[in-house]
Amino acid sequence: MKATASPVLRDRIMRLRLAYIDKLPRVLDEAKAICERLAADPEAVDALDALHRSFHNLKGTAASLGLPEVSTEGAAATDLLASLRGLGVPARQSALASALAEVRGCIDRLEQLKDSASIAGAPVAAPWSEAICAASADREVQRRVVFFCDADLDGAALGAQLSCFGYTFASFTDPEAMKAEVLASPPDAVVMTTTGAELFTDLRSKVAVPILFVSDDSDFATRLQAIKAGGEAYFVKPVTAHEVVEALDAMTVRREPEPFRVLIIDDEPEMGDYHALILEGAGMMVRRLDDSARVLEELGDFQPDLLLMDMYMPTCSGRELSRVIRQIPKFVSLPIIFLSSETDRLVQVSAMRVGADGFLTKPIPPEDLITAVAVRAERTRVLRSLMMRDSLTGLLNHTTLAQFLDSALANARRQSSQLCFVMLDLDEFKKVNDTYGHPAGDQVLVALARLLKQRLRTSDMIGRYGGEEFGAILWNLSVEEAIGVIDHIRRDFSALTFKAGDAVFSCSFSGGVAGYPEHPSAEAIVHAADQALYVAKEHGRSRIVAAGQRSEEVEA
Ligand code: GH3
Ligand code: MG
Ligand code: MG
Repeated sequence: MKATASPVLRDRIMRLRLAYIDKLPRVLDEAKAICERLAADPEAVDALDALHRSFHNLKGTAASLGLPEVSTEGAAATDLLASLRGLGVPARQSALASALAEVRGCIDRLEQLKDSASIAGAPVAAPWSEAICAASADREVQRRVVFFCDADLDGAALGAQLSCFGYTFASFTDPEAMKAEVLASPPDAVVMTTTGAELFTDLRSKVAVPILFVSDDSDFATRLQAIKAGGEAYFVKPVTAHEVVEALDAMTVRREPEPFRVLIIDDEPEMGDYHALILEGAGMMVRRLDDSARVLEELGDFQPDLLLMDMYMPTCSGRELSRVIRQIPKFVSLPIIFLSSETDRLVQVSAMRVGADGFLTKPIPPEDLITAVAVRAERTRVLRSLMMRDSLTGLLNHTTLAQFLDSALANARRQSSQLCFVMLDLDEFKKVNDTYGHPAGDQVLVALARLLKQRLRTSDMIGRYGGEEFGAILWNLSVEEAIGVIDHIRRDFSALTFKAGDAVFSCSFSGGVAGYPEHPSAEAIVHAADQALYVAKEHGRSRIVAAGQRSEEVEA
């Protein structure tokens, strides 16, 4: 069964189509004028090229927007002009008059078509699934629900800690009662002691909820019982919140990945808009560019994961443009996909030779476009992430965060928006290492990284600035608001406990926050945040200080 597009998408495609029909008379008038020019000067190669490009565009755009009759006429004219372009000068001159007559015939039919009511009203049937549209409708990170059951353990303390990591916690003391609730309204995961585990043996056949066991015992029989009950993880008490969270994250992770960023270069605005709509519908971030001369600027600024490019454009061809891009070392691995109504295999192959990663023929089924883009963008992401991220915490490394800060500031300047830079440093961390060992210290670093990722927005950028220092760029927040957010995280982090052998300890951090536009350059904003961090350390640690806040204003 063919799914139809969601109402919103359908409406937007319909509007694109109507705008395109409105524009058609102008396109046809231009085509007629070029025909006149060619008739008067049969050697005007540029006119022939322009006419060919115009019908080639018309064919692709009309097909994509659901105007097949218009596309068919466009295709006929394109083929005529393509064979004319392939002829030598004398042959072309003798074929020109009859070819132009046929092209004018196409134009006449197109003029009649554009007035026929049927084309504007044709239904928008898109062969992509509702699931794609629905997935994009709600990309909010939701809190995950965990049921906890322990007849003899203090669940409240663990619950309070788990809630810091974005879990909503419901506590039970009776395994039977919890089982009933699991069946009635399945949570994202269950954490329970092994008491009553046998009750859950048949649960798996009814609902798919991961179970994590926490037990006093480590013997084989108890562990086996946990496995039979569908246990996916097993911890021996005492257990700390972040150990549980790590397992829960692995079992329940639902965090939306950052959307893929796609730059579309197409001289035909309707075509670019249409492809943008489809990719945005699949949750991607898209930027459009009509003017290929601005491509280098845009690549630096938008940092796309992939470039989707038209083959035929007036100032330079897709091939020429990709050659320019490929000559710049940092763009060598950027995937480029050509999108064109060109069906000639030879032309497609020659496009691939200049370093394109794919060639898609218009009109391309939306599902195919989404898949082609997602697969390649994902690969770039993986490669890039290996180069950009710190291996212990998975946060951005220092160099990358610094690069992002430059472009973030440029963006804030252009949009006259606010931005904050936050610098965090773990308190007396050397002592943690000295007392509990380096691996225990690493555990703390990972926990803080995870908490920051959980609690800041996906658009915020978080980096490991150095050993036990972290940096973050927060968008569209005033310094006061940023301090509110970070201080909340600070309090929650201080409440976490860590385990090293038999010892249980906790840790805190201090932070400094500086804002744009008060601090307009990367150097200034980092320096100001660093100074504020220093003031926080001076005033007893475990506090967040704003840049420029005077010492006497910092609470003791
Ligand atoms: P302050 O509150 O003034 O920041 O004191 P501090 O002890 O945190 O600061 P100091 O700069 O003296 O020590 C930082 C420590 O962080 C020293 C170093 O061993 C530790 N550290 C840096 N990188 C890592 C790491 O990757 N893993 C672990 N476990 N420790 C690290
Ligand atoms: Mg330090
Ligand atoms: Mg420190």
